[in-house]
Amino acid sequence: MKRIIIIGSGMGGLSAGIHAQRNGFESIIFEAHSTPGGQCTSWTRKGYVFDGCLHHFGGFAPDMKFFDFWKELGVIPCKKVEVKECVSAVSRDGTYFHDYYDLDQLEAHMKGISPEDTTLIDEYIRRIRVFQKGDLFGTMILGTFREKLKYVPYIIKRAGYFKDTLDTFGARFKHPFLREAFPLLNYSLSNIPLFFYISKHVAGTRGGMDWPVGGSKTIAECMAKRYLELGGVIHTNKKVKKILTENNHAMGVGLEDGSIHQADIVISNADGRKTIQTMLSGQYENKKIRGYCQMKDDHNIPFAVQVYLGVKRDLSDYPSSLLLFLEEPTVISGHSCKHLELQIYGFDKSMAPEGKGVIKIELFSKYSYFKSLSEDKNLYKNEKEKIAHEVIGLLDKQFPGIQEDVEVIDVVTLQTWEKYMGGTQGFDHFPNKKFSFLRTMLGLDRMDMLPGLKNFYFTGGWVTSAGALVLNALSGKTVIHKICKKNGMKFKV
Ligand SMILES: Cc1cc2nc3c(=O)[nH]c(=O)nc-3n(C[C@H](O)[C@H](O)[C@H](O)COP(=O)(O)OP(=O)(O)OC[C@H]3O[C@@H](n4cnc5c(N)ncnc54)[C@H](O)[C@@H]3O)c2cc1C
Repeated sequence: MKRIIIIGSGMGGLSAGIHAQRNGFESIIFEAHSTPGGQCTSWTRKGYVFDGCLHHFGGFAPDMKFFDFWKELGVIPCKKVEVKECVSAVSRDGTYFHDYYDLDQLEAHMKGISPEDTTLIDEYIRRIRVFQKGDLFGTMILGTFREKLKYVPYIIKRAGYFKDTLDTFGARFKHPFLREAFPLLNYSLSNIPLFFYISKHVAGTRGGMDWPVGGSKTIAECMAKRYLELGGVIHTNKKVKKILTENNHAMGVGLEDGSIHQADIVISNADGRKTIQTMLSGQYENKKIRGYCQMKDDHNIPFAVQVYLGVKRDLSDYPSSLLLFLEEPTVISGHSCKHLELQIYGFDKSMAPEGKGVIKIELFSKYSYFKSLSEDKNLYKNEKEKIAHEVIGLLDKQFPGIQEDVEVIDVVTLQTWEKYMGGTQGFDHFPNKKFSFLRTMLGLDRMDMLPGLKNFYFTGGWVTSAGALVLNALSGKTVIHKICKKNGMKFKV
């Protein structure tokens, strides 16, 4: 039986472990942190649960590919709670726009806000309905080559629907608030293809976008449980320092505690830069890889700052995700904001003590901004306090009295992620290695191996260049599939 060592228990590591065990390998995970899950994590402060990752899940519709995918990994079945709207937005004058999953409700609601946009609203709803037949998005990501091929006529028939971005479509609204809010609905990334966003709606209309009770932690715990049930072993608080090689074959790992562990195959789910340049001392780099590893620390990154508030207020009537438009633009964490992006967890009772709730506010910033601040502990601490103070002040205007209700504050920056995940540039690992949907779909340029090094594989962010649970978990499955094929074994799911 071949022995596999996996470095890191993020989505890619746990998924590789689960599929390795299922396919008859003996695997073991070394995790530097105290709990498995990597970026898919949450932590508790005075009874409030602060979720670091999950915004939308997208796995609960039994007739969609995502369902089977998460079922294989043990995440489904888990307790879920219904979420009625994808995102909401509130204007400066207090008008709410809820992007409901129920299409009749959505149509009536949007036409109520802006009767003059009836034609465009009809078109928006029609576009969602057009993709309701079949499972294009799930198939493009998780389908086999043959399944993808079968969708070619479907795609050709709907070719006209792939051109718009949220920006170009949103710009067509006559109503000024819808025109401003619509492009920002997907985490404020307005150049995202409208089709991506619509795919969430398509899943939402089938109950696919319900929320796993407990959020990120539930996902990570379910996967870790499945892995252990299959006979896998996770050692937490065990940081890998070196990948051992002999004659250009990975042979095992050396841990920071000085211990040495032999293996037939090594898989790294850790940060690519650290794996290549530190754990392997840069021996297996080429020009392309060096280019990918170069730091690029002065661009704006979504979710770079997260302000968590534990508030003694029942938030169950608040929308789940909210774009809050500000009266005046303001600069927070070095970034000019016209709106705040909120996640309000009133819908999941497990996230706070009875009658209380959690609000998360996410901000853009640059890695360089906090990197320089973090060199002085006091400056860094003061900036985090300033950000929390500013954000709470802005919230108080929309939700009067919330300032007095705040019981717990936690501010997380890219430096925090770097500290706890052992990565580089926070979680923004490889800005030079851009995500491409087409390449991902076709399985091209995965870079899940290194030139000249045998018995070594990557999973997770380095392979996918994507901040997406499903893609990083998929990379673990793909690698085990590849290893099975190489060893003449039939891959089992
Ligand atoms: C703020 C934020 C919001 C997000 N929101 C969403 C969302 O809504 N939906 C979504 O799908 N995705 C979201 N993501 C992205 C998603 O969380 C990640 O893409 C995914 O969790 C990354 O998985 P990974 O396989 O790359 O591993 P990672 O999560 O990067 O885990 C790597 C693991 O390796 C460990 N490790 C590192 N170095 C070592 C070492 N030397 N020895 C041992 N162990 C080591 C780390 O401790 C960590 O546990 C979000 C991410 C963040 C940060």
